[in-house]
Amino acid sequence: MEADFINWLRTRVPGHPELMLGIGDDAAILQPAGPGGIVVTSDMLMDGIDFELAACRATDVGRKSLAVNLSDLAAMACRPLACIVSVALPRTNAAELARELYSGILALAAEYDIALAGGDTNTWDGPLVISVTALGQCSERGPLRRDGAQPGDAILVTGQFGGSILGRHFTFSPRVPEALTLHARYTLHAGMDVSDGLSLDLHRLAEASGCGAALNLDAIPVSPSAVQLAAQRNDGVTPLEHALADGEDFELILTLSQSEAERLLRDQPLPIPLTRIGQMVAEPGLWQRNPTGLLTPLRPRGYVHRAEGPAPSDLDQANS
Ligand SMILES: [Mg+2]
Repeated sequence: MEADFINWLRTRVPGHPELMLGIGDDAAILQPAGPGGIVVTSDMLMDGIDFELAACRATDVGRKSLAVNLSDLAAMACRPLACIVSVALPRTNAAELARELYSGILALAAEYDIALAGGDTNTWDGPLVISVTALGQCSERGPLRRDGAQPGDAILVTGQFGGSILGRHFTFSPRVPEALTLHARYTLHAGMDVSDGLSLDLHRLAEASGCGAALNLDAIPVSPSAVQLAAQRNDGVTPLEHALADGEDFELILTLSQSEAERLLRDQPLPIPLTRIGQMVAEPGLWQRNPTGLLTPLRPRGYVHRAEGPAPSDLDQANS
């Protein structure tokens, strides 16, 4: 199946100015045009763990496998350059499944101007596994990291949070152009993308920066999907709790000085909402600020991966 499939793929993969040698040789060659360092990120999605192939479209799975990597490049404020796609396909209908996966990948790759530089396609008796590695290039300002937040910084987020399981986890737009615009025009101290839950990922950013984060819960932009999910499940979990703990929002958390935040919020330079949700504080941990200004501890919640926690279904992580 592989030779046929590679021929099919070669006729569909467009050229790219920074891809000197693409699919067909033993390895690909990239010649990046800009001055910055190369950023590398990788994510593997597995049927039964990260998606249920029987319950979704393979084009959506393909799109998402690249989109999650683009979101990590956005988190570093890097320009996407190339991606490498490796797939383990179940033997039944392998060729058809591969075409659907790559259709989703190629459409998003075209949208974000990222070259498909190569990869590997195997069949086996197991379920579908798809692993994408993406390469990006830093701008002159260097990468945006999660360890640069300072006490006193404003915490800003793009978009809205919660309820992505109702569909947005497949259709989200990685915040690449947004990150590039903001990083070029404003002095950002720290940034990351929200993959595992707003409160959990903000806690990680604060830990990496050696400080804490205090949230103004009234300011959290709760998505309409979070409201819908809370109503559907009717299990006592509020829309705000969904916004704080649901994974796969793929929005950005950014920290910057208060004066820079004022300037940015005045400008509103993006076509999507940017919201100030709190402030970095010297005291480590995650906090909520009540209306009188008092800080009380807030438990970070989100999706905890098996390798670092008890089980994916356990939606809590103890506040350490
Ligand atoms: Mg990330």
